[in-house]
Amino acid sequence: MTADQAKLLLGPGPSNAHPQVLEAMSAPLIGHMDPEFLEVMADIKSMLQNAFQTENHLTFAVSAPGSAGMETCLVNLLEPGDEALICVHGVFGNRMSDIVERCGAKLIRVDAPWGKAIDPEQVKQALEQHQPKLVAIVHAETSTGVLQPMAEISKLTKDAGALLVVDAVTSFCGTELRVDEWGIDAVYSGSQKCLSAPPGLSPVSFSERAVTTILKRNSKVQSWFLDLSLVSNYWQGAKRAYHHTAPVSSMFALKQALQLVMEEGLENRYARHWEAHQLLKAGLEDLGFEFLVEEGFRLPMLNAIKLPSHINDQEVRSKLLNHYRIEIGAGLGDFAGKVWRIGLMGENARPQAVDQLLSALKEIV
Ligand SMILES: *Cc1c(COP(=O)(O)O)cnc(C)c1O
Repeated sequence: MTADQAKLLLGPGPSNAHPQVLEAMSAPLIGHMDPEFLEVMADIKSMLQNAFQTENHLTFAVSAPGSAGMETCLVNLLEPGDEALICVHGVFGNRMSDIVERCGAKLIRVDAPWGKAIDPEQVKQALEQHQPKLVAIVHAETSTGVLQPMAEISKLTKDAGALLVVDAVTSFCGTELRVDEWGIDAVYSGSQKCLSAPPGLSPVSFSERAVTTILKRNSKVQSWFLDLSLVSNYWQGAKRAYHHTAPVSSMFALKQALQLVMEEGLENRYARHWEAHQLLKAGLEDLGFEFLVEEGFRLPMLNAIKLPSHINDQEVRSKLLNHYRIEIGAGLGDFAGKVWRIGLMGENARPQAVDQLLSALKEIV
């Protein structure tokens, strides 16, 4: 497929990569222990620290997609018998809950109806009844389009002496995320959403407190590959030791994508996502669509809209994909057939992408 035949990816990820990112990915390979590659890793680390707004030393990209970042955070912080409070307001909170149980930890759940944010009052009540080691929450729930306010839950977690784990897969580089200021102890993201790099890497960052917790473990992390005590020897320290063969080409692409973020500036990038969302919102409302999520809690980069009954979900989405070469996301779980998820992530948070979708929709519906 040539570049002008490219599909416009307006789903829940991957988003389209910038041509410079695709070009970086096709550079000749070098060894994953080559000093030149170690420099690439160092550059990635410092740009990730900047994008996460953190000084955390342990900041790097896991060689696997966002779900592996999720698993890295949980398997390293939890030991059998620990308690973990998981906030669930969509698919990804459920996934965290599943991992917690697989760690042999005790799961405490706080649920919100899909399409709503987690109510801090419920977290407060759960923290009065339990003393979990960590509280985990999804910042941008891609399955529902909800942006979770973080301030109150962060404060409650700190006051309870628990660690705060945040899923920033979709929010990272698309909306404000301040890891240090918000007291986040472990955070993970993915390369293919608002970062607009190819899928397959998961930026992560751990606070000193999280690192201390990991060092004090009594049991081995049950995953060899994701064990931070092993993989971190490859990413940092004077003696870089072989751990696994890094996906060199993907790292080249990630470095280039991060460079584009740095050149643009985080605030400008957040504003660009917000403006694209506003433009889409106006256009969709003209067409008679309604948003699933209450105003004030909507993600700019993932727009969940209700499908009117006269629209055939499958038919319209396949027409968009096959005829207009535009991908949008279907509803997940209970929302299947009832909701669309329109992503405006990274490179696609631009008026041109919004216009392209709106004019196609005008022709179809
Ligand atoms: C996409 C996503 C994930 C999983 O990332 P993968 O790269 O698909 O493994 C986790 N959490 C959220 C909120 C996501 O949007």
